[in-house]
Amino acid sequence: MSETTDVRVGVDLGGTGTRIVLVGSEGATVDRVSFATVAERAVAVPSLVSAIRTLLAGRTPVSIGIGASGPVDRCGVIRNPATLPGFSGADLEGELGDAFDVPVSIDNDAVTAAIYEQRLGEAVGAAGTLMVTLGTGVGVAALDRGRPIRGTDGEHPEAGHRLVAEPTPPCYCGRSACWEQAVSRTALQAAAEEVCGPGAADALAELASRARGGQEQALSVFESFGNALGAGLADLQTVVRANVIVIGGSVAQFDDLLHEAAQRAYTRIDTYAPVPEIRFSRAGDVGGAIGAAFLEPRWYRPATG
Ligand SMILES: [Zn+2]
Repeated sequence: MSETTDVRVGVDLGGTGTRIVLVGSEGATVDRVSFATVAERAVAVPSLVSAIRTLLAGRTPVSIGIGASGPVDRCGVIRNPATLPGFSGADLEGELGDAFDVPVSIDNDAVTAAIYEQRLGEAVGAAGTLMVTLGTGVGVAALDRGRPIRGTDGEHPEAGHRLVAEPTPPCYCGRSACWEQAVSRTALQAAAEEVCGPGAADALAELASRARGGQEQALSVFESFGNALGAGLADLQTVVRANVIVIGGSVAQFDDLLHEAAQRAYTRIDTYAPVPEIRFSRAGDVGGAIGAAFLEPRWYRPATG
């Protein structure tokens, strides 16, 4: 049957969780599994191979794509010892390629989230897409007609780290006030704990519920978060000049509380570029894995093998 010959494997390799999906050529999910990300170097890659093999259940995929948290170098090697110690530095493309005898591509997870939005989500048909994922940190990716924009050295730009005017906690990147420290879910969570009390089991859900109920203090947290988000997007847009801006990551679920403030702050600043509507992803937690299934091979290859 055609479905069995067209299946692609997409993997979202996160610091805490790994998601694997099998998708058909049009992006429909055939099967999926998720589990805790393996941290031990000796077993990480073999356990990923075995999870993919189990999910495939005898089917032969046309390709395997992986979206990984944090830096991925221009050869497709994960360089993230802090949150992906089991996979960082491993020859994942080579090992998976040998195990399944298919093309394997690896990229940053903001890139795979952007690919999902452009193929199936909020950015379908867009010539230029700016994707910003707000989670533990802030991921940024831009697509030019479906292909990721990279630095001139071939690496993925780490554009979540940029100096901002409003004070933030100091960032591990060295900036004393950094956009990632203002608009990550981690930052929103910290603000929620300040309002709802430290140690609140789900302070963020509680804060959102208070804001939806009209409580002013809670509304003002989302208002300032939305302001910082919109202002930072305007900065990015001066460089990227995208037609569509999509916000993803777990913060996207607060669309109703952030959208207006973000759009207002964004529109206040002249980007000398078209003014796209800011959209929020509806992919939930599987967009990155589905997008990974459609990753194209990298243009960069080392000069010698
Ligand atoms: Zn930073």
